[in-house]
Amino acid sequence: MEQQFFTSTLTQNERDTENILRPKTFDDYVGQDKVKENLSVYIKAALSRGESLDHVLLYGPPGLGKTTLAHIIANEMGVPITVTSGSAIPGKFDLSAILSKLKPGEVLFIDEIHRLNSSLEEILYPAMEDYRLDFVTGKGPSATSVNIKLEKFTLIGATTKAGNLASPLRDRFGMQMRLVLYDAEQLRKIVMKSAQKLCTEITSDAAYEIARRSRGTPRVANRLLRRVRDFAEVLGDGRVTKEVCLHAMQVMEVDELGLDAVDKTLLTTIIDKFSGGPVGLETLASATGEDRTTIEDVYEPYLIQLGFVARTPRGRVCMPLAYKHLGKKISKERMEMLSVYAEGEQDENE
Ligand code: ADP
Repeated sequence: MEQQFFTSTLTQNERDTENILRPKTFDDYVGQDKVKENLSVYIKAALSRGESLDHVLLYGPPGLGKTTLAHIIANEMGVPITVTSGSAIPGKFDLSAILSKLKPGEVLFIDEIHRLNSSLEEILYPAMEDYRLDFVTGKGPSATSVNIKLEKFTLIGATTKAGNLASPLRDRFGMQMRLVLYDAEQLRKIVMKSAQKLCTEITSDAAYEIARRSRGTPRVANRLLRRVRDFAEVLGDGRVTKEVCLHAMQVMEVDELGLDAVDKTLLTTIIDKFSGGPVGLETLASATGEDRTTIEDVYEPYLIQLGFVARTPRGRVCMPLAYKHLGKKISKERMEMLSVYAEGEQDENE
């Protein structure tokens, strides 16, 4: 059941609901103030010069609002948007076809841009820099050179980890913006707005209960809201109250910090099987049967934010707060060893 809340894989139904809940303007987009502030300035400047916006790279964990921001940027610029994903563009001709159809100023949003086949970079670079398609197709005497002028467009790339991008590609983005996890108050506002869009009555304290279990992530907040709404409709009069919320969370086994069974397995595995760590990501993935990328992108950022896990050059370690939360004893020697990491000696590894 936990997978439903926290993975980044979406069903068609969820995709449809996400589109309904997606804010359309900067005013409706809660939080990420620095990113919004900077983007607003760049958009105003581009509009006043009558130019297209420079290319933008958005990075951060899944569900934080990268796709939403891309749509808002297109909306504020008053241009159309084409949405695709790095893994959905198999070859040169597919990418060329997408690029050559773009209208003046159009936003091309490539989600999971780190999954783009590296052989496509020779097409993407001249397209980003000079708005040209410039490549040779075929071999030997039948080789033909393709040279087409493109409309000026804005590429918005989204990735969960900027470090996974080839640096020449990263360097071609004039704006690189990192989205950060949301605090409980920002998520409470998002839950209230989403409930309104779903025509669901909700109390402010119920919204807060959902918010603080949402792992800093709007997508998780919206998913939890929809599940709690189901409980409210079946068990009550449809109103989402704090009582309904607490009951639903208990049934769904989501604790007061938003941790689920997978988080607990990860933490207890590090503590019990690897004496608290350090343990490498690959080893942790095989010991728990979880996917490495899911651990890294979905579970770990929140556990790090809570101060439960630290990422060190030699692997992951569990911090004293995790022992406390799980009711586990920690030795004096271990406490001393961990104090080094508490002082911020972490390998950011982005
Ligand atoms: P990402 O592309 O980073 O994985 P999305 O943009 O698809 O995330 O956002 C996931 C969901 O969370 C969407 O339904 C969107 O409505 C909601 N959401 C994301 N960021 C915000 C925000 N800042 N304010 C309100 N809702 C948000």
